[in-house]
This record gives sequence, structure tokens and C-alpha cells, in this order.
Amino acid sequence: MKKFKTQNKFKIEISNLKTKFLILEFFTYFGFCALLFGFMCGCQNQRLYKDSRIMMGTIIEVTSPHKEAASVVFSELERLENLLSKYKPESEISQLNKRAKLKASPETFYILRKSKEFWQLSDGAFDVTVAPLVDLWGFTNKNFTVPADEKIKNILNLIGSDKILLHYNENVIEFEFPGMKIDLGAIAKGYALDCAVRKLKEKGINSCLINAGGQIYCLGTKFGAPWRVAIRGPRGRGIAGYLELTNRSVATSGDYEQYFIKNNKRYAHIFNPKTGYPADSGVIAVTVIAPDGLTSDALATAIFVLGKEKGEALAKKFKDVEVKIIEENGK
Ligand code: FAD
Ligand code: MG
Repeated sequence: MKKFKTQNKFKIEISNLKTKFLILEFFTYFGFCALLFGFMCGCQNQRLYKDSRIMMGTIIEVTSPHKEAASVVFSELERLENLLSKYKPESEISQLNKRAKLKASPETFYILRKSKEFWQLSDGAFDVTVAPLVDLWGFTNKNFTVPADEKIKNILNLIGSDKILLHYNENVIEFEFPGMKIDLGAIAKGYALDCAVRKLKEKGINSCLINAGGQIYCLGTKFGAPWRVAIRGPRGRGIAGYLELTNRSVATSGDYEQYFIKNNKRYAHIFNPKTGYPADSGVIAVTVIAPDGLTSDALATAIFVLGKEKGEALAKKFKDVEVKIIEENGK
């Protein structure tokens, strides 16, 4: 009887132990499944949506964990292209170029005011009135030519942002001389990115990378880490370096994307407004990192015209701005 009792107790203990193992096994298995599920969810949450579209004469790429980010960006850029493009006959800029006087929207008026500010700060190196030069050298219709000196000299009379009159009380923009024209190619893409970022924030989207043909804005972070941006080396020199950025804009102005070569000489699309010739400051690429797109865009162009020393002095006038310059001699 006693023996039986002991055996029974032993059996009960064994079966208790089995249950304990079973329970332990169950929890281990369950824990593993929960971990796997969590990992898979994490991976799903870390998905990035990418979309691209040709706008403003370049490729616009949008990368974000938010599916709707690209459509928000594209519709804002489309709105601004219709307002600010000299290539669109109905835009306010085309109307102004045609009529030399325009009652403008507050946005067009604002961008002209900022353009004049950059003209003043850069001692005339940044100048949106270069449009007749851009046309003369064939950069607007891609029918490149080296014009006669005489033609360039005649056109210089039309250049100078002091000849743009801003009537603040009624938002009227007026040109001092007939034949004047403006081109916002060096500032409007940056401004457009700032507007797109504002729209994204309004929709609660705080993580997005926008690349508008080298004009970049890094909104927020990429899953908690800064966005990593590659800077292309000029003239086919691979990658010049990487930047890690959060809530910053980067713009690069260079002479290696829009240019033509005649008699072994390179002529690029950024002009020295004082000479009427493509800028020749010894610089081949300028990258500017700034808190906003308008500043990075306009400054990169201005520094390209001014060259290293004067350009760096100009950049010092701005808060939170970093500049990387590559000179012709490879420095
Ligand atoms: P940046 O250095 O930022 O700008 C250089 C451009 O600014 C030059 O191409 C010239 O237009 C102008 N510029 C030259 N010298 C100076 C100077 N000293 N100061 C100020 N400005 C100067 N291109 C097309 O081919 N087709 C299009 O339909 C078209 N639509 C556009 C619409 C908009 C709203 C904008 C902003 C641009 C558009 N472009 C279009 C132009 C195109 O994408 C340009 O090549 C681009 O704006 C040049 O930018 P970047 O960053 O290469 O150089
Ligand atoms: Mg620019």
C-alpha cells in the first residue's frame, strides 16, 4: 500500500513536471512567435514609399514612410510651376516678362522681394534679370551658341535687379526698361520645396526626402536616423561625399550638367551678370546646406558666381549655413 502510494506520488510529480515543461515550451514558442510578429510589423512599419515625376524641367523624387507624401509634394510643385515657370505661357512670370508690369500674387511678390535681397547681399552676383542672357546663349531652348560680344554688351543694359520695381502697397512688379525679363531657375525650386514641406507638415507627415534634380529637402528623420544624401562629384567624378541631414535643405550649383563646349571651352548655364558671360570664378561645384530650400538654392548659385573667398564671406552672413566648394584645380 505504502509502495503504491509512493509510486502514485512519484507519478503525480512526473506528470506535474511534464505540465511545467509543456507550459514552459508553450511560452517559449509563444514568445518567439510574438517576437517574430513584432519584428515583421517593425519591418512593415519601416517601409519606404518612393515615387518620381518629371516637373520643372527635372526629375522630382519623393521618399517617405507615408504613402500619400508623394502626391502632396507633386500637387504643391505643380501649383508653383504654374505660377513661377518662365516656360509656362500662362504663369505670372511669363505674364510679367511679356507685359513688364503685373499685379502679382503675394507668393510671386515675396519671391521677387527675396531675389532682390539676394542680389543686394551678393553684390549683384545673384540676379534673376539674367533671363535675356540665358535666352541669348541658347540655354532656354537648348540651342547653344556663343553670341557676338556686341550682342552681349547690348543686353547688359537690361540686367540688374535694381531695375525691378516693387510697389509694396499693391503687390505690383514693374520693369524699368522694356525687354527686361526674369528667370527664377536659381531660386524657385528651393522655394517650391519649402512650400511642399509646409504642406506635408500640415497633413501630419514629418518624414520625407524630396530630391528635385539636386535640390534636396530632408524632412525629419528616416525611422529615427538622419537621411543620408549622396553628393555627386562634379564632371563625372563619382560620389563626392555623403551628408546626414535632418530638417535641412541641400542645393548644388555646378557647371557639369547644363553646359556646352565650343573650341575646347566649357560654357555653363550660370552667368556673371556683370560680364554677360558664363561665370568663371574658378569654382566647378558649390553645395550649400541650409535650414530652408530658398536659401540653399539662391546661395549655391550666388557663390558659384562669386568664387571661393567672396562666396564663403557671403555664406557667413547666414545663420546655420554650411558650404562645400570644389574648385577647378580639384581642391
Ligand atoms: P541653379 O544654379 O540653381 O540655377 C541656375 C539657373 O538660374 C540658370 O539655368 C539660369 O536660368 C539662372 N541663372 C543663371 N545665372 C544666374 C545668376 N547669376 N543669378 C540668378 N539666376 C541665374 N527647364 C526646362 O528645360 N524646361 C522646363 O519646363 C522648366 N521648368 C521650370 C519651372 C520652374 C518653376 C523652375 C524653377 C525651373 C524650370 N526649369 C525648366 C529650369 C530647370 O529645371 C533649371 O535647369 C534649373 O532651375 C536650374 O537649376 P540648377 O539647380 O541646376 O541650377
Ligand atoms: Mg540655385
